[in-house]
Amino acid sequence: MGAAAQILQHYDSILLEQEDFYQDLHRNPELSHQEHRTAANVARCMTSYGFEVETGIGKTGVAAVLHNGSGPTVLLRADMDALPLKEGTGADYASTVTAVDQAGEQVPVMHACGHDIHVACLLGASQLFAGHQELWKGTLVALFQPAEETGDGARAMIDDGLLARIPAPEVALAQHVLPGPSGRVATRPGAVLSSADSVRITVHGRGGHGSMPQNTVDPVVLAAMIVVRLQPIISRETPPTEPAVLTVGSLRAGTKSNIIADEAVLELNLRTYTDSVRQRILASIRRTVQAECQASGCPKEPEFEIFDRFPLTANDKETTARVAGAFSNYFGDRAGGLDLQTASEDFSDIPRAARIPYTYWGIGGTDPEAWHAAELAGRVQEDIPANHSPMFLPVLQPTLRTGTEALVTAALAWLDADDR
Ligand code: ZN
Ligand code: ZN
Repeated sequence: MGAAAQILQHYDSILLEQEDFYQDLHRNPELSHQEHRTAANVARCMTSYGFEVETGIGKTGVAAVLHNGSGPTVLLRADMDALPLKEGTGADYASTVTAVDQAGEQVPVMHACGHDIHVACLLGASQLFAGHQELWKGTLVALFQPAEETGDGARAMIDDGLLARIPAPEVALAQHVLPGPSGRVATRPGAVLSSADSVRITVHGRGGHGSMPQNTVDPVVLAAMIVVRLQPIISRETPPTEPAVLTVGSLRAGTKSNIIADEAVLELNLRTYTDSVRQRILASIRRTVQAECQASGCPKEPEFEIFDRFPLTANDKETTARVAGAFSNYFGDRAGGLDLQTASEDFSDIPRAARIPYTYWGIGGTDPEAWHAAELAGRVQEDIPANHSPMFLPVLQPTLRTGTEALVTAALAWLDADDR
């Protein structure tokens, strides 16, 4: 029996504690940068397992380290934050919590992205590693990251000196629970999650009376032209083999039907999978907007502000092959490939700052029977709640078991004592 199977045969001994922790966390979600209760509970558990624990990294981040002889250092990362959503799952451990968000509004809070699963799985894997140190060698770094949903939690930990506060890892690993049959794990070499950029564009016209347009430069007509003119950046300038999404999600101008406004503000969101496509499209957006402003005779240059940026998540091929091999040994035909995802993540900011390779995989969270029924009916999109839905609720098992098995198996691809 391999080390993974030997360690994981003890999973049932931690199952109840893990399920309790998960349900308590699901019932008590916290918004990005407010993960105080979660971090305190995580730190208490990790300390009790024998890890050296540092708290308050990037405000609420937790890093826990377990040295177990000479060997590689592996970093496992889980994100901890929840979303401003009112839970609609009807689970008996559903959240009824509200909190004050960054804008000062009282909002409902829900673990609608499954980060509570990630935390519980990393705790479970850590407990198993700590309890069976004869089966592995090296150093385990368990990282509990705040504020993934706002895209700045990983960066906050790095900026707060994370890399000087933990032993230097040689690989970083992370996972996400996704729609798909629970019990399955899925890997993908290369680009796996898109990079994201939001751009706020302010165009300046010249306001005036709606009855005398000849005296004005109308920013509403200009903004409408820009919305249309941005579309061919994807359909005509970007190769069909390069996936990209450009959505103008907000367009604001004017106050009254007979007043021509001074300015218009557009906000768009861009998703891309290579840095070169990303840079080229951002440059095309700028060129297109500037040209349309010139065509309208704007009195002032447009302004561009980029915000809510997420890095590209592109899995290292060798690292991914190593994890995929370990998964296929342990999970058999429950391990497979992962489709390209249009969502984004800030996890890769950590390995990028540490200059180490990484891989990021998916685990299914959907009841397998419900999934197969929806698949047969061609109704997966309609019937299976995805992340960020108020109905998103991974089935407890085998999701927690699988996520724990995946972390243990992947980390052992470096830490297995028999491999050296
Ligand atoms: Zn999310
Ligand atoms: Zn997430």
